Amino acid sequence: RFTNSRGGAGNTLGGGWPSTEMSSPYTSPEKARLSIDDSLPLPLDEKCIHGTLSNGLTYYVQNNLKPEARAELRLVVKVGSVHEEDHECGLAHMVEHLAFRGTKEYDTFEVIRFLEAIGARFGACQNAYTSFDETVYFLQVPIDREGLLEKALTVLREWAYHVRCTDQDVEAERGIVLEEWRQGRTASARADEDFFTTLMEGSRYAKRLPIGKLEVIRNCSPETVRGFYQKYYHPKRMAVVAVGDFDRCCPGGAREVAGHVARLFDVDPPGAWVEAPEVAFPAHLAPRLSIFTDKEATNASVVVDCKRARQPVETQGDYRRTILEHLYHEALSTRLYKIAVTPGAPFFSASTCISFPTSTVETAALSISVEAGGELQALASVLNEVERVSKHGFEEAEVRIAKANLLSDLEADHIEREQLDSEGFCSEFVENFVRREPAMGVAYEVALCRALLPELTCAQIAAVGNDYRWDLNCVVKITRPRVSWVKRLIG
Ligand SMILES: [Zn+2]
Repeated sequence: RFTNSRGGAGNTLGGGWPSTEMSSPYTSPEKARLSIDDSLPLPLDEKCIHGTLSNGLTYYVQNNLKPEARAELRLVVKVGSVHEEDHECGLAHMVEHLAFRGTKEYDTFEVIRFLEAIGARFGACQNAYTSFDETVYFLQVPIDREGLLEKALTVLREWAYHVRCTDQDVEAERGIVLEEWRQGRTASARADEDFFTTLMEGSRYAKRLPIGKLEVIRNCSPETVRGFYQKYYHPKRMAVVAVGDFDRCCPGGAREVAGHVARLFDVDPPGAWVEAPEVAFPAHLAPRLSIFTDKEATNASVVVDCKRARQPVETQGDYRRTILEHLYHEALSTRLYKIAVTPGAPFFSASTCISFPTSTVETAALSISVEAGGELQALASVLNEVERVSKHGFEEAEVRIAKANLLSDLEADHIEREQLDSEGFCSEFVENFVRREPAMGVAYEVALCRALLPELTCAQIAAVGNDYRWDLNCVVKITRPRVSWVKRLIG
């Protein structure tokens, strides 16, 4: 499984009103009195036991009630296809496969037999994924049976430090990965890849699709694979995430689990620290255009991605910026919706948002659905609206509605907080580790929003648009339903 999108539960954290934690300064948003200081770092969810072992490995351990008597475990390694050299294209994924074949303590397919025995989905691509920036292994284990949690953590440790990469292992796995490569060559996958390559051209990402290169998978020496594993599987590049029903199932609760992690994972690093390669921002002046045909589509679509280097979200000031951006896109999209539903509108639907194609790049993205042939007119009309906001700003009412929607979404998440699956928390911690995304917990986020929203003005929100240059670092993708249209557009 490959991903290149921002995962994470985002704002899906939720939960009931706390009964035992009212003393916390921000657990109850009603009572929260957060004072805003732009330089103040965003905290990690106060329920999470978080730290770094002496060898550099990071851990996140959190109690969570759902699913009952189970734990979600992750081994996160900050290595993906973008770290590969030319002769290594595809090896991050190959290592992921080898992890399930054998390790120092688990002979061939013993890991898979263990996963089968505990009723987990099993195998490479089911219990792991490799993306551009990270490789993540995951397990869901029942923890109401003695010893299973520790055994599952042992499996994670084996993957972290002891994947077996013998010559025979590599030869055996090569065929399986080649088959996966072949099956992935569908028309739609190729179109996605073409667009991604256009979007990221000029950066290392464009040449590093996670599935790798055929000739490397076919011909790489086992030595090279071993070298790749040793080079990048360093504790400083890894995190262990454990979220589950610990307080009910383990005598010492989540603290005890954190203790297991420390005992199992705090070993001397197996190899020297190697810096990851530099990844440049793919800057370009002229817009890039790519045109695709989708035989199954009935309408045409236009997507414009306006790139910039990904901005950090580490302080209250950074968070204010993300809220301003959210409100800008929300208010603009509502306006575009209103245009779309008027008779004779130049497009069927249109919206804008922030998207995150890689760890290093974010884009202001504009998407339009339109009748084939009307793409340019639709794009001009949307850009007109963007220009109108820049010149004249938003109405008070537009901003009021955008703010109210944001707050009510967050409050709903807060009320449902204790219904959230452990998986959602795990995704947040994975994002926090790999991309330093905030994982502050919804209670804190509600409090922060309540403190921030009243002071944000229409002018500040409209000014967000001034940061976007829709003609600079921008990539336009037009998808049309039939070949004949493409000819007409280019010709
Ligand atoms: Zn695979």
